[in-house]
Amino acid sequence: MTNFKFQKEKIKRKKTKQIRIGHVTVGGEAPIRVQSMTKTHTSNISETVAQIKRLEKIGCEIIRVAVPDMDSVHALKEIKRQIKIPLIADIHFDYKLAIKSIEQCVDGLRINPGNIGERNKIIEILKVAREREIPIRIGVNSGSLEKSLLKKYGYASAEAMVESAINHIKLFEDFGFTLIKISLKAPDVWRTIKAYRMLSKKVDYPLHLGVTEAGTQFSGTIKSSIAIGTLLMEGIGDTIRVSLTAPPEEEVRVGWEILKSLGLRERGPLIVSCPTCGRLEIDNFTEIVLEIEKKLSHIKKPLHLAIMGCVVNGPGEAKDADFGVACGRGVGIFFKNGKFYKRVKESEIIQEFIKEVERMVEN
Ligand code: SF4
Repeated sequence: MTNFKFQKEKIKRKKTKQIRIGHVTVGGEAPIRVQSMTKTHTSNISETVAQIKRLEKIGCEIIRVAVPDMDSVHALKEIKRQIKIPLIADIHFDYKLAIKSIEQCVDGLRINPGNIGERNKIIEILKVAREREIPIRIGVNSGSLEKSLLKKYGYASAEAMVESAINHIKLFEDFGFTLIKISLKAPDVWRTIKAYRMLSKKVDYPLHLGVTEAGTQFSGTIKSSIAIGTLLMEGIGDTIRVSLTAPPEEEVRVGWEILKSLGLRERGPLIVSCPTCGRLEIDNFTEIVLEIEKKLSHIKKPLHLAIMGCVVNGPGEAKDADFGVACGRGVGIFFKNGKFYKRVKESEIIQEFIKEVERMVEN
């Protein structure tokens, strides 16, 4: 049973060219990938590796690290050796850092065309990337667009961002380099959506979606969900990254929730819980939901779970789930696959719910 048994329509994805970042396919028929970026100093190998390993565990499929200096470049090989997911070096300003990063065996590069500089410097990067078949993301950012485009459009409009991307795609293609992924990030929803829609009509390269500097966990999650969600519903997007002023684990969790809620990927439980109201019949309902969510976060199998706050309206939703509970009046009434399963004492709801779900997963 999946999370999507009530979803009758499927999103028709735009078919893009497929590239490979390390062992992970991107674009074409490949699933939409969840990415994140580390928040450590890359030169601190142990902290960076520890953070990446935590992200791997919760479903991060591609990781990007900032490479602002040679110390960071020198850390790349060892970081890559210790992790399982593909490693992307994020380069601004200095094309030599990009070349050296490729030589350190990273699986991909992200360069910001607005600040890498002249054509010949980009060609130098392309020469090495082509030789080693390393894909490059052209990461256009509204905050660092080329001056000529800012002058032409007056500000970093969606049109200006798309033109920047197209100019660089052309430069790459003229050089015979097509292992390309593109992103067009702005900090607001409207520009982001407009830019991606425009670019998606013009090119078939895989697109990496995100809202840059989206904000805190609360506001950034909302902005990212609207922008990324809208584009995904239109079939646009091959990888996603939710940028948050929060630990990167939150970025990965939100990324997965976006994909799960649209029925594009499945991973772990999708938990339906009621908002509570005046009919709530249990004191610590919110704690129960949070505790169950936390304790089941290790489960990868897709499951539809429901946790409801009263025994009047709760059973209906609980019955629709693979496993559900209606709490209240001192008891938890459990439902499994649409049928009454058992009744437990209020004090045992959390532990029994977790035990039963883990048993379902094992079987
Ligand atoms: S399940 Fe019960 S407590 Fe929860 S919102 Fe519905 S009526 Fe209110």
